[in-house]
Amino acid sequence: MSEIKFVQTHCAVQGCKTTVFNKGLSTLLHQFPTSVDMRNKWLVILRSKCASVDWLRSKICSKHFENKHFDHQRKLKETAIPTLFPGSSSSSTTKKVTKVAENSPRDKIDRMLNTLTQAEITDDIRNTMRMIKIPDNFSDCVGDNLQCIPDTPVEAQLMLLIKKQDHLITRLKQVVMQNKKHVEVLQKNLEDIRTSKKEMEQSIESYKYIVKCLQEKHATLEEQIEILTAVESR
Ligand SMILES: [Zn+2]
Repeated sequence: MSEIKFVQTHCAVQGCKTTVFNKGLSTLLHQFPTSVDMRNKWLVILRSKCASVDWLRSKICSKHFENKHFDHQRKLKETAIPTLFPGSSSSSTTKKVTKVAENSPRDKIDRMLNTLTQAEITDDIRNTMRMIKIPDNFSDCVGDNLQCIPDTPVEAQLMLLIKKQDHLITRLKQVVMQNKKHVEVLQKNLEDIRTSKKEMEQSIESYKYIVKCLQEKHATLEEQIEILTAVESR
C-alpha cells in the first residue's frame, strides 16, 4: 500500500545519529523481525531506548547488535536482538560517563528548570532580556536571510538567537491565546445548548400539565384539540 512512503530513513534508537544518508557501507538499517516472538522481544528492549517505536516502520541500525548476532555475510541472524546502546545508562561501559553528566553544571540546571512552570521560565527569560543591551550596529550584523554576516561578534550572534526565540515565544503565546478563545466560544455554545434544552423540557412539562388538566375536566377530544391549538398559536 503506502508503506514505501513511510519508510524510516533513520535509526529509531534515541540519541543514535545513523541515517540511510550517513550510515556508510558497514552499517545497515534493520527492520523488525517477522517472527512475532522475536518482534515482541525487540519491542520490550526498545521501548525504553526509542522516543517512539513502531515495529512496522521503525528501523534499528547495525551498531546496536553484537558481532555474534551476524552471520558470515554480515546478515542479521533470525535470533538477533539489539543489546548495544552507547550513551544509554543501562550500558555498563557508559555508566561512568552518565554519572559525570549527572553532576555536570548543565545537568543540574536542566533539573532545576524542570521544577519551574512554563510561565515562570517565560517571565524569567523576558526579565533577563530587558537587561541585555542590543549591540549598536546590530542590524548591520544581520543579513537579509536573517543569518549573521561573517565576522559578526558573538554578542550580536547571541542577540539574534535571543530575538528569534523571543519571537517564537510571542507566536506560541498567541496560538495559546487563540486556542483559549476557541475553548471559551465552545463552552459558551455548550451553555446555550443546555439552556435551550432546559427551556424545551420546561415547555414539554407545561404541555403535559395542560393535557392533564383537560383530561381531569373530562373535556371532549374536540375541546382538547381546540384548547391546545389556541395555546400553540399564542
Ligand atoms: Zn542506531
